[in-house]
Amino acid sequence: MNKYDVIVVGAGPAGLLAAGRAAELGGKVLLLEKMRQEGRKLLITGKGRCNITNDAAIGEFITHVYPDGRFLRNAFSQFFSSEIIDLLQQHGVEVTLERGGRYFPASNKSADVLKAILLWLKRSNVEIRCGERVEKLIVEDSTISGVQVNGKIINAGSVILATGGKSYPATGSNGDGYELAKEVGHSIETAIPALVPLETEGDTALSLQGLNLKNVSAQVWVNDKKSGEDFGEMIFTHFGLSGPIILTLSRIAVKALNAKSKVEILIDLKPALDEQKLDNRLQRDLNEHGKKQVGNIFRYWLPATMIPVFIKLLGIDPEKECHQISSKERKKIRYLLKNLRFQVVRHRSFKEAIITAGGVSTKEISPKKMESKLVKGLFFAGEMIDLDAETGGYNLQIAYSTGWLAGNSSMSIV
Ligand SMILES: Cc1cc2nc3c(=O)[nH]c(=O)nc-3n(C[C@H](O)[C@H](O)[C@H](O)COP(=O)(O)OP(=O)(O)OC[C@H]3O[C@@H](n4cnc5c(N)ncnc54)[C@H](O)[C@@H]3O)c2cc1C
Repeated sequence: MNKYDVIVVGAGPAGLLAAGRAAELGGKVLLLEKMRQEGRKLLITGKGRCNITNDAAIGEFITHVYPDGRFLRNAFSQFFSSEIIDLLQQHGVEVTLERGGRYFPASNKSADVLKAILLWLKRSNVEIRCGERVEKLIVEDSTISGVQVNGKIINAGSVILATGGKSYPATGSNGDGYELAKEVGHSIETAIPALVPLETEGDTALSLQGLNLKNVSAQVWVNDKKSGEDFGEMIFTHFGLSGPIILTLSRIAVKALNAKSKVEILIDLKPALDEQKLDNRLQRDLNEHGKKQVGNIFRYWLPATMIPVFIKLLGIDPEKECHQISSKERKKIRYLLKNLRFQVVRHRSFKEAIITAGGVSTKEISPKKMESKLVKGLFFAGEMIDLDAETGGYNLQIAYSTGWLAGNSSMSIV
């Protein structure tokens, strides 16, 4: 007889939920984690605050998931945002709802989320072994029988792979799981960094580094064609652009860069004003401040640190008085306010990508159970599956829901 009913590989949010659910159903569960600590990535989520989930209804939620969120309908119908919130509340974590439907722990500490989930696992008697890396899956006659760790085989009726993607490899997820899945016959959709900062040409971003812009709109242009747009917050870095709206657009940018296309990001600093309104305001300000140097009136339009950079890009003498500004120059100002253009040369690596796109093909996983269609008793959960989403708490919910469903289903075959 096997010592364990279920072995879960990887103690990220997906593996933790899988282990907790299987144990809650009475299973003898072993959770194996190669790092010395569980949930390393969970701890750094939301800049240490952990954007737990999103309050969008299932229909809307899946529109934020790529390449096709419909795969998740069943998992979400069984364990969704209200379920993870209930579970956390039962284990001492209160949550708060913020802009964009984002839930965070009221304490603003991701460590509290991890602590609560670990408490649930302890109460359900999950055996956790950290510092143990699964090297191989043991499969006979297309049926899983266990895993190999340090050259030794540990047997179980079911195995759940929840090893994450390739992003932020320092947290433990370095693509190990793709190899394990490949070795037993699964197809892997090429893993690429998604939600990743972008490197831009020239030194404009560098001169603006650290500047955070709110309520701006950014567009991604591929081969001179507008290919995507987002509105919200972004930040300039020493290498280029980052922040929520840039990360969202990076999905399109990365694919285009890999296809050797020309990629540009256009920032509209005044998205609430159309060309006409903007022109009227500019004209008004230039008239009102006729004797002042034009450099001075930019403080009505731009953050202080941006003014010298903006003036340099305009190529207008900042000492020129406002009344000397020609209509051609005014047009130039108006254009630049709505079209701050950056040529994207590269994306940052997996080391800085919030999420990995690609992974184990969903064509070979049953959405009803999260079970492999190729190997009986093998289940998949979390980021290692070919699913990824925008920022906003969506990615963690995918991990909990697929983890919970895999844990639930794993017990039905024991
Ligand atoms: C900086 C950052 C911020 C983020 N913020 C948010 C956020 O606020 N909200 C949100 O929804 N999402 C966020 N995400 C995404 C989210 O963290 C991931 O979607 C989520 O962690 C995926 O969970 P997972 O369990 O599938 O994988 P992981 O969390 O990567 O866990 C996989 C685990 O498997 C272990 N493992 C790998 N191989 C083996 C092996 N061979 N043997 C044993 N163990 C192994 C790894 O060590 C790791 O602990 C963020 C990501 C990053 C990088």
